[in-house]
Amino acid sequence: MKPVIANHSSFNEASRHQFGRIHLPVAPKCNIQCNYCNRQYDCVHENPPGITSRVLAPQQALQYLDQAMALSPHITTVAITGPGDPFANPDATMETLRLVREKYPWISLCIATNGLAILPWIDTLAALQVNHVTMTINAVDPEIGAEIYAWVQYKKKMYRDLNAAKLLIKKQLEALKRLKEAGFSVKVNSIIIPGINDIHVITVASKVAELGADILHYLPFYNTKEIVFENLTEPSAEMVREIQHATSKFIPQMKHYLWSMAHAEEMQLKPAETAALPEKTPVYRPYIAVSSLEGVMINQHLGESERFLIYTMDATGKCTLVNARKAPQAGGGEQRWNELAETLSDCRTILVSGAGEAPKKVLNRHGIEVIVIEGVIKEIVVGIFLGQDLQELIRKSQIHAGSSNCRGTGKKCG
Ligand code: SF4
Repeated sequence: MKPVIANHSSFNEASRHQFGRIHLPVAPKCNIQCNYCNRQYDCVHENPPGITSRVLAPQQALQYLDQAMALSPHITTVAITGPGDPFANPDATMETLRLVREKYPWISLCIATNGLAILPWIDTLAALQVNHVTMTINAVDPEIGAEIYAWVQYKKKMYRDLNAAKLLIKKQLEALKRLKEAGFSVKVNSIIIPGINDIHVITVASKVAELGADILHYLPFYNTKEIVFENLTEPSAEMVREIQHATSKFIPQMKHYLWSMAHAEEMQLKPAETAALPEKTPVYRPYIAVSSLEGVMINQHLGESERFLIYTMDATGKCTLVNARKAPQAGGGEQRWNELAETLSDCRTILVSGAGEAPKKVLNRHGIEVIVIEGVIKEIVVGIFLGQDLQELIRKSQIHAGSSNCRGTGKKCG
C-alpha cells in the first residue's frame, strides 16, 4: 500500500484548509487508562479536550456520514478516533469501516489508536484500504510509561504499573513496524507532560523515526479535572517549540492543532441527533411521486389518480421525469393503499392536491409522506429535494387547504 498524505488533514498541514474530515464516534470503550485522561470525555489523543460524543452504532454512523456529505461535499476523510480506542471495540470499528468503504470507495479512511490491540487487525485494515493510522506513543521506556499509564487490559487480563507499560510499549512498537511494512502512512502523537516525559519525548521521536513513522505530532498535556495528573502544569508554548525544534532533524513535525478543525464538519450536524436514527438500513428512496392531470401542475387528488409521475433530481439540481406508474384500482380499502405503497416503495414523498386521512396513514406507515399541495411540479419537487421550508412552498403555490386537506370528491379514497 502506498502512503498517501497529500489530501489528509491529519497528516498534511496545507490540506486541512481544502479537505474536510469527519469523525464517526463508534468506539466507546478503551483498553488502557492514561493518567491524563478523564473518561467522561472523548479520547484526547485525536479529539478536542472536554468533548463528549454520543456513541453511534455502525449503521447510524453511516447515516450521519450521508447527512454530513450532503451538507459538506468536500469531506474527503472519515476518521474513527473514539470516544475510546477503535480496537477495544473492533466489531463496531470494522463494521463501520466496511460500510463506509462500500458506499464511498474513494474516501480516505483513518484510524487513531493507542496501539495496544491494532496488530491483529492490520491485514484487515489494509484490505479495507484504510490509508492512515495515528498512534499515540508517550514513552518507549517502561519506567516512564509506568508513570503515564494506570493500567492496560489485554486479552481479558489486567496489567498494572511496570507490567502495563512494558506490554503497551512492546505492542505499540511492534504495530508501528508492521504498519510501515504494510505500507500505511503513520502519524505518531506524543503528549508532552512536564516533569514526566518532557525530556524523554526526544528519545521517543528518535525511536519512532527509526521504525519509519512518517510524521510526529506533539500535543501539550491538557489539564482537565478528575485526572491523576490534575496537579501537573501544562507545558508552555516555548517548551513545545523547543522539543519540536530538537526533534525536527530526524522526523517531520506536525505543528497545527487538529483540534481546531477536527470537528468542523460536525458543527452543522450533531451525532446526538443521529443516535436517534434507527439502526437498520433505511430504505433507499431517491424519487418523488406526483399526481397530475396533464404533467405540469400538481392538481389531482390521491384517490382520483390513475397514474403517478415519478421524479428525481440530478447532481446539477435539475428535476427529471423518470417514468409513470399505474395506480392500483379504486376500491379495496386499505389493501389499495398497501399496493400503492409497494408500487411507490422507492419514493419518499407523494405530492397530491388532496388526500383522505385513511390513505395518508397507511402510506405513512410504509414510510411514504403524503404532501397536499398545488403548484408547478418542477418547482415544488426541486424545493422538496433541496429541503426548502414546506410552509413557504405551500404559500408560494397558493394552496387552499381545508382542515382535512382533502379536496377530492370524497368518494375515491376507499
Ligand atoms: S487511550 Fe488514553 S486518552 Fe485515549 S481514551 Fe484511552 S485512556 Fe483516554
